[in-house]
Amino acid sequence: MSSLGALQVPEEPIIPFIEGDGIGVDIWPAAKAVLDEGASRFGHRVAWLEVLAGEKAYNETGQWLPPETVESFREHLVGIKGPLTTPVGGGIRSLNVALRQILDLYVCLRPVRWFTGVPSPVRHPEKVDMVIFRENTEDVYAGLEVAEGSAEAAKLIEFLRDSMGWQIRPDSGVGIKPISVTGSKRLVRAAIRYALDHGRRSVTLVHKGNIQKFTEGAFRSWGYDLVREEFADEAIGWEDCGGEPGDKLLVKDAIADITMQQVLTRPEDFDVIATTNLNGDYLSDALAAQVGGIGIAPGANINYVTGHGIFEATHGTAPRYAGQDKVNPGSVLLSGVLMFEHLGWADSAQAIVSAMEQTIAEGIVTYDFARMTAGAREVRTSEFAQAIIDRL
Ligand code: NAP
Repeated sequence: MSSLGALQVPEEPIIPFIEGDGIGVDIWPAAKAVLDEGASRFGHRVAWLEVLAGEKAYNETGQWLPPETVESFREHLVGIKGPLTTPVGGGIRSLNVALRQILDLYVCLRPVRWFTGVPSPVRHPEKVDMVIFRENTEDVYAGLEVAEGSAEAAKLIEFLRDSMGWQIRPDSGVGIKPISVTGSKRLVRAAIRYALDHGRRSVTLVHKGNIQKFTEGAFRSWGYDLVREEFADEAIGWEDCGGEPGDKLLVKDAIADITMQQVLTRPEDFDVIATTNLNGDYLSDALAAQVGGIGIAPGANINYVTGHGIFEATHGTAPRYAGQDKVNPGSVLLSGVLMFEHLGWADSAQAIVSAMEQTIAEGIVTYDFARMTAGAREVRTSEFAQAIIDRL
């Protein structure tokens, strides 16, 4: 048994998986084959347990997210999922959002790095090596919105005028953006802990505090407070060292719009990023594009206190390619690699990454990379997985 913070990992952990809709049938078996091989090379074993969600669940049980699926993730702590169709007009806004909320998965983790040979729209994609910690439970994603013209909107607008003196046009929709001390500090804490554990150089707090002082600006201030309160021996804020951290981890901050420019113009200045929900959403997709895009970007939703984590492909179900053994399994595979890291299986994780890197560097790629790479050999999803296994 190995242990990782709150997590006690048995010899053969039971890991629930959701195959995923659409291209899930192609990418999941390919990724699973590589993960199994990568694990067994270092004496690890996974007892996979299929759980249902999305279309497959709906067709078999009449429910989009059966309670047994949520229970299984709750009980086994760590699981993985392929992409899910968002039910249109159903009771659940999004299955992904539902799972995050039920298990209070407060960090959306998105590592972004470049693999040799992956086509990229920028000249130096190799300079991008960032890990984004995006707050996952609050901000404009809290779902606190009222529609223009509704009785609720009229009531809220009237209340704000009468009690706060705020003038809002009567024909407005209105949304509320909550940012709490609790939500901000636990997110920044996870980012700093990760940076320290992984020997990273800096954590940048990305915010829009110049305009939204009491939400985004407060996120920044609470982040710096946390450094002083809990990490004084190991980390130091820019405000307290003028950018000279000595041998400590540097915690700095940057305004979101400038960050969007600078991750392009000087990516080497960014390492771990801790940010609020909406900024994190924009930033993760923009950065994924910089290193080759949607087919290989991994992600995870984690609660570092309970140890719960759901690792997931970040792209959708790409229905027009479903069942063709064509698309790139990289996103769900690298999400599995992140999961192995979370379990403390760094040896298997590293070996899989190296084998995948070698495969791509040799020009063996799926259609999405092949169409942008001169001289590449286009292979099927399953063949790409086999090529990685051959290089493990
Ligand atoms: P999408 O499924 O991500 O597909 C958009 C495009 O991205 C594809 O046409 C393809 O581009 C490329 N792509 C996606 N996955 C790829 C892969 N593995 N390999 C190579 N290329 C890949 O987005 P969408 O069409 O907007 O959404 C379809 C459904 O997915 C919707 O029901 C949506 O709600 C759902 N969705 C689910 C999740 C999730 O579960 N996490 C996330 C997003 C969307 P080219 O055609 O240019 O090759």
